[in-house]
Amino acid sequence: MSVAEALRSVQERVTAAAAAAGRDAKTVQLVAVSKTHPASAVREAYAKGQRDFGENYVQELLQKAEELRDLPDLRWHLIGHLQRNKAKLVAPLVSLLHTVDSVDLARELDKRLAASTPTRVLPVLVEVSIAGEEQKHGLAPENLAEVLQGIEALPRLALRGLMCVPPFTDDPAGALPHFQRLARLRDEHGGAARLPELSMGMTHDLEPAVAAGATLVRVGTAIFGARPSPLR
Ligand SMILES: *Cc1c(COP(=O)(O)O)cnc(C)c1O
Repeated sequence: MSVAEALRSVQERVTAAAAAAGRDAKTVQLVAVSKTHPASAVREAYAKGQRDFGENYVQELLQKAEELRDLPDLRWHLIGHLQRNKAKLVAPLVSLLHTVDSVDLARELDKRLAASTPTRVLPVLVEVSIAGEEQKHGLAPENLAEVLQGIEALPRLALRGLMCVPPFTDDPAGALPHFQRLARLRDEHGGAARLPELSMGMTHDLEPAVAAGATLVRVGTAIFGARPSPLR
């Protein structure tokens, strides 16, 4: 299947999932996750109207952004963990950072923006470790209040919502309780007025994510094909 065909079938999945949940499909934004795939694949999706692309690794993001800088309205999302020492590289570049998980990282981003692009405001999501798995990134739900307040105190960050990666289950429906938990956390911390975006759902489980209220789904494999290594 070509990228164009695969993209269309994912758009259809999103539309069907939204309809099944009684939601307007326009309230679910598709982020095409292009990690490990070449810039040419991004161009193919872009030619079909896709504008939001997600990357996990800072070096790969920087390289692809450079190769694709002739596409000015392309929006990059960083969906992988960000180390503080790389904050200055991505802060001026990304449209949405999905993975803030500490006040320290938020402060570093604010500081780097002040130095590089002082008028820029960076939209961010807070990554929550929804099932409390030790090896996963993201912060524990009990620390959420403090980090949300910490971000709101920073002039160059705009708090936009929450993000999670649930533990893998063979049956996609197994992810539903985790997605519902993220939605509930949003409601407990100011609701959609304070946290309008919920970034959750990937190739395997976008349907339960949309059912639970996802506003951003991050889909790689179903658009670009399998990745070379299971680790990536
Ligand atoms: C790789 C990745 C995705 C996309 O996963 P697919 O299963 O290929 O759709 C989404 N979110 C995150 C955080 C990822 O690392």
